[in-house]
Amino acid sequence: MSDALANQIAAGEVIQRPASVVKELVENSVDAGADEITVNIKDAGRTLVQVIDNGCGMSPADARMSFERHATSKIYTSDDLFCICTKGFRGEALASIAAVAEVELKTRREEDSIGTQVIINGSQFVGQNPVSTLVGTNFSVKNLFFNVPARRKFLKSNSTELQHIVSEFHRIVLTHPNISFSLYHNGTLIYNLPQSNLKQRIVNVFGKTLNQELIPVEIDTSIVKITGFTGKPSSSKKRSDKEFFFVNSRFMKSQYFHRAVALAYEKLVYPDCVPPYFLYFEIDPHNIDVNVHPTKTEVNFENASDVFRLLQAGIRETLSKCDVAPAIDFDSEVGDIEMPYFSKDDPMPPMPKVNFNPFYNPFEHDSEENHYSKAPSVPERDRNNLDNWQQLYSGAGLHAEDSDLSGHNGIFSGKVENRLIQVKNKYIVSPSKSGIMVIDQRRAHKRVLYQKYIEKVDSNVDSVQTLLYPIKLNLDVASYAMAYDIRDEFQVVGFDMEFDDNNVVIIKGIPPFLSPDAATAVVNDIIVSYQEGHGNVSTSIKDILAIAASNRELIPNEKSLTPEEMRQLIDSLFATNAPNFSPEGDPVVVIIGLDELEKRFS
Ligand code: ADP
Ligand code: MG
Repeated sequence: MSDALANQIAAGEVIQRPASVVKELVENSVDAGADEITVNIKDAGRTLVQVIDNGCGMSPADARMSFERHATSKIYTSDDLFCICTKGFRGEALASIAAVAEVELKTRREEDSIGTQVIINGSQFVGQNPVSTLVGTNFSVKNLFFNVPARRKFLKSNSTELQHIVSEFHRIVLTHPNISFSLYHNGTLIYNLPQSNLKQRIVNVFGKTLNQELIPVEIDTSIVKITGFTGKPSSSKKRSDKEFFFVNSRFMKSQYFHRAVALAYEKLVYPDCVPPYFLYFEIDPHNIDVNVHPTKTEVNFENASDVFRLLQAGIRETLSKCDVAPAIDFDSEVGDIEMPYFSKDDPMPPMPKVNFNPFYNPFEHDSEENHYSKAPSVPERDRNNLDNWQQLYSGAGLHAEDSDLSGHNGIFSGKVENRLIQVKNKYIVSPSKSGIMVIDQRRAHKRVLYQKYIEKVDSNVDSVQTLLYPIKLNLDVASYAMAYDIRDEFQVVGFDMEFDDNNVVIIKGIPPFLSPDAATAVVNDIIVSYQEGHGNVSTSIKDILAIAASNRELIPNEKSLTPEEMRQLIDSLFATNAPNFSPEGDPVVVIIGLDELEKRFS
């Protein structure tokens, strides 16, 4: 295999779009010790990505060498620690970029009186010459994918590509407030970010209105140190581009920790809304596993569940100190016991979050309280190994000799099921500490399904399942026009659609988690949602898709449930991050308080 071809294949992995070029080049500039970095973009990066820095520069030999694969100057000195201190360490980026674009590099070190220029087109070395240039490095990447038409065609609209560039830019500038950055698009200055402290940097990037909204966070524990800022509840939004985690100065994507933050804000904000947050983790690099794949931003934590708890509790405490979290808490009225997680087939992160005890029996004053308040908080990994309830509650005062808890099958036949009553095949009723809890079972199910799908949607952005047999969809004129209008949105969440004449849409690919059988109905639902005006700022395509996918699995209007099903449903409901509301914002849980009951009986 020729080097050029190998590079092109590697490029497919590393360089997916103009934003990847921006990321790699700017990260190199950061690694080169620059404190001033300028990014010039033309046509969303299709025509030009130029990055100019005042870093250490390169010698003529190094400049030429830098395009060789594995030509990194960084890996040789690397131990675990080093890996996460510099950005790149695979020495692949420049070779990959040069394989799929026309690249001009101008660079000079401080000690050299004259700089050097290297030109490479599609891995072909064109020439190297002395050139007069400032100290530092100046990369121009032109006509990206000029030699890979399929990939060039694959690029999205300019606004989408620019959006990707801007979000890469955000990730980098928020990690390095001590470096000044500017970003130009087609000659217009979009960002001008002077060196500053972190808070000023955030405000400079996202606007002055954020200034009053940011609460400093400082969580200092032996496991992890978390600093940064989080927004007041009033600043929360349904769709936000201001949610950032960084670990050891690298951007990190984490649905899991996002949930910890969301939980800390639970009931302080409207369902599904989250505040902006900018949280920086410092952790012993040996306790994390940074995925070395250059385009991946996931990080594995060895003690993720501990960090989750610390984060949630820390944010909650930060909020209460700032007087933005009210003292009353619905959950604590029902019982402030941490429910260990035990749902069998639900793959959601098993985090203790629910201070709700569905087994609470107000008629058992003698023992109940003790049983559950002593429930051990079982570490996550142990929990996964538990296969029955006795183990789960061992030490909780429940013993095998307690007749109705002995034996696997006896578990639900005794005390538990009696506390869940189904009414009209619609509602699940259960006593609670403060009265009677009534749950709308269908809305509860909807919330559970929505949670499942929104996580899938979020983790599958831009991935497509290509259909063996494309689906032909005949639409009416209006639906066709709407579908065409929102084709970018469809694409974002993984639909590959072709728009034929005659109001026919051909679905060639669908999100990986959807079954082909569901595709037509889901697409129709999405179109209708947009026609009804749901596709506005407050509801994103992701929500709409998650709701549409949920609808396919939703239990019928009235359905008889077994006690086990009811219990599962309630467990899953309270494991979601907004159990009290359906995805559409309708109440799921109603508590009829003791006051109310007493009033009725008087
Ligand atoms: P990596 O960053 O993984 O080392 P790259 O392909 O991104 O690999 O870069 C290859 C090498 O080129 C780097 O190791 C570095 O020595 C050099 N280099 C790249 N960009 C710059 C820059 N802006 N300033 C100085 N040296 C650079
Ligand atoms: Mg690099």
